[in-house]
Amino acid sequence: MFRLRLLAGLTKSARSLVLTVACLIGIAVAFTGAGSDLDNQIRAKRYEHLPKKPSGDLVLVIIDTPSIKDLGAWPWPRSRHGEIITALDKAGAQRIALDIIFDQPAADPRQDKLFAKALAHTHANIYFASLLENLSNSKETHEALPTPALLPFVKPVSIWVKSDPDQFHRRVPLNAPVLGRELPVMAQALAGTQYPDDGRVLIDWSYWPSQFPRISYSDVLAGKFPKGFFQGKSVLIGSDAFGLGDQYSVPFHRKVAGMYIQAAAAETLHAGRPVELGDWPSLLAALALIGSALLFKPIWRYILLGTALFLCGPIQILIEHLSIIRINVGAAMLAFTGALAAQALLSMAQAMLDRITKSAEAGLPNLAAMELHERGDGVTVVVCLRNYVETTALLGFAAQGKLLAKIRDRLILAAGHDRIYQIDNHSFAWRSNEEVPEVVAGLEGLEALFAPGVQVDHLTVDITLNAGFCDEVSLSVQDALPKAVLAATNAINRGVLWERYETDEDEVFWKLSILNEFEQALGRGDVWVAYQPKLDLHSNGITGAEALIRWTHPERGFIRPDRFVRAIEEAGRIEKLTLYVLERAIADFAPLGLSVAVNLSMRMLGKNRLEAPLRVLLETYNMPASKLTLEITESATMADDQGFTELETLRALGVRISIDDYGTGQSTLSYLKRLPASELKIDQSFVRQVLSSRSDSVLIASTIKLAHELDMQVVAEGVEDPQVLDALNRMECDIIQGYYIGRPVAIDEFRSKFVAASKPRTRTARNAA
Ligand code: C2E
Ligand code: CA
Ligand code: CA
Repeated sequence: MFRLRLLAGLTKSARSLVLTVACLIGIAVAFTGAGSDLDNQIRAKRYEHLPKKPSGDLVLVIIDTPSIKDLGAWPWPRSRHGEIITALDKAGAQRIALDIIFDQPAADPRQDKLFAKALAHTHANIYFASLLENLSNSKETHEALPTPALLPFVKPVSIWVKSDPDQFHRRVPLNAPVLGRELPVMAQALAGTQYPDDGRVLIDWSYWPSQFPRISYSDVLAGKFPKGFFQGKSVLIGSDAFGLGDQYSVPFHRKVAGMYIQAAAAETLHAGRPVELGDWPSLLAALALIGSALLFKPIWRYILLGTALFLCGPIQILIEHLSIIRINVGAAMLAFTGALAAQALLSMAQAMLDRITKSAEAGLPNLAAMELHERGDGVTVVVCLRNYVETTALLGFAAQGKLLAKIRDRLILAAGHDRIYQIDNHSFAWRSNEEVPEVVAGLEGLEALFAPGVQVDHLTVDITLNAGFCDEVSLSVQDALPKAVLAATNAINRGVLWERYETDEDEVFWKLSILNEFEQALGRGDVWVAYQPKLDLHSNGITGAEALIRWTHPERGFIRPDRFVRAIEEAGRIEKLTLYVLERAIADFAPLGLSVAVNLSMRMLGKNRLEAPLRVLLETYNMPASKLTLEITESATMADDQGFTELETLRALGVRISIDDYGTGQSTLSYLKRLPASELKIDQSFVRQVLSSRSDSVLIASTIKLAHELDMQVVAEGVEDPQVLDALNRMECDIIQGYYIGRPVAIDEFRSKFVAASKPRTRTARNAA
């Protein structure tokens, strides 16, 4: 249950959860820089697939293997560098940068003099590399400016670079301090820029080293270059001969000579200093997009977020290729991924929850859902549809759905709200905030709604129901539901519409107080007698009624007779009750000239307490004894010999004896023959089955025949529809009693409903033709 609540909580707050996950991931990534890996990889892809053509304003003069071959082993005399600078200057170069370190005086001082002389005569700006580097494996830094003999003629520039933790060189610092002087990086000198800050500029490695205009050192010395090749250009002299200089790891191009770092950086600056926006703009856009995607259904969320995630790389590539803007998308991508993962987890949770909380066949919320959602106080009501399973088996799948929808509509009317749960394949439940009488009224209304049948595709489906409820309102669904189900089962067994769950304490308390209460109830008029009409199939008119006791308790509401009659019997006070009903029945029916039947408890028999008062009553109200029937249950007739003789005495008085609930006991035929009975009442449980169960219909038919042979009349009780009535009519049953003819009602209602209208009902008349 706890896990179920967790699941339900998760899926309920799905949106904010997804957004929160995305925010947390995105912000964490933006702060820690964990997304840079992604950005680096996307940029490497751009460098690879979208190379840019260098402007051509930068020309590389390369100390390459052919030059070494032509000019001899390195190092070369410094005068030779003087020569090449003079040659370049003559060829019109505007800036000349040397990526060679001259921090020590030459071994031969004449060389430095010659070099300085050449430098002194140039027009171009000359830049010399100065060094600031971390010596490997030590914290010590090594800083060096060009040797004093040369320094006055040149501008020292920094060539210090620093790799990322993965050893790749992606940025150059714009300026760096060397021996107390803040020097611009060589790339600035070559690009002709003068940014004063110490920002580290992202090198655009889409300028491929191989794409720069370049020429061999030895070729320049030999004058082998086209006219105007150096005119107005920036020239970078450096070494690319394998084994001469350091090789540096850079994105996509793997290892390059140091001069290319300066070349690519210079070209980058030449195009305009990159504007780095960082992680935030794309992250905020991503979070806004995630927020709006959550307004759509999950399937659209996947599509939108997936597409957005997929497009991050291309968008970054496009922006950076077309402009000097540098934008990171790593944090945004991880936020999208987080949102997708969270959404996927939630979808799984939702699917799990659905599987747990929806009934398999109809998709209605089920028991687990009820336990989950119904947490407040209330009466727990269970409705069992008796022939639902059999009926749906005959219907197609689509019709089943329609039937269920109609059933659900009716249940919603009865419940007063739409939280109906299907707790097994033929039972439904809900929780009600109403008082017991309203709940009961709802159930009675429901029965009336189902009475005409349910129309599904030109078919009328008969659905009958029983209900049970537990009105211990503070019990949880888990505790109350089994009680309501038990009550519903009792209702099914007793053939009544509903039962209320009674606790043992209820029962005990009830038994203790019932006598007293019943006594008072009689005095107050809470106890009264209802009459249920009996239809005579020969005359086709109402010829009498059965008297049924009623108790309307001021607090408990309507109390069912089979409950309190038993309690009063056990308390030994059944006599009083019986005499009360007898007097009412005789008093009410004598003037009508109709017969009336009164139920006799088996405990009344064998004590000879009935004959005398009966005689008085019949005389007082002037009723012929033959108009009175005493109904005794089959089992009661077998009580003992004394009971048997008392029956004979009563019979001698002229009253009729009826064997009630016939078929539920075990009386043998010969025993029946000995009984002084003039009527047999076939129990409701058989009557109801007359159409559906062949054995029951055979039993009823043969019982009727037998009873007739023994000169007894046959009453069928519990007739609820015309089909059953017709079947009984064909079997030559004599009298019909049941809701179809009429429910038990007070005498006034009985008189107005049944006495005035006791003309023949032609529809069922056997002898009508
Ligand atoms: P019973 O003598 O078998 O009475 C018939 C019961 O079936 C009545 O229930 C009646 O309302 C119900 N009934 C009649 N037609 C139909 C129908 O078409 N469908 C359905 N589902 N039920 C139908 P009720 O009034 O609740 O009485 C229950 C039992 O209480 C009676 O069963 C009887 O055993 C006992 N009882 C009632 N009044 C008295 C009384 O005055 N004295 C004694 N000793 N027992 C009584
Ligand atoms: Ca009866
Ligand atoms: Ca009965």
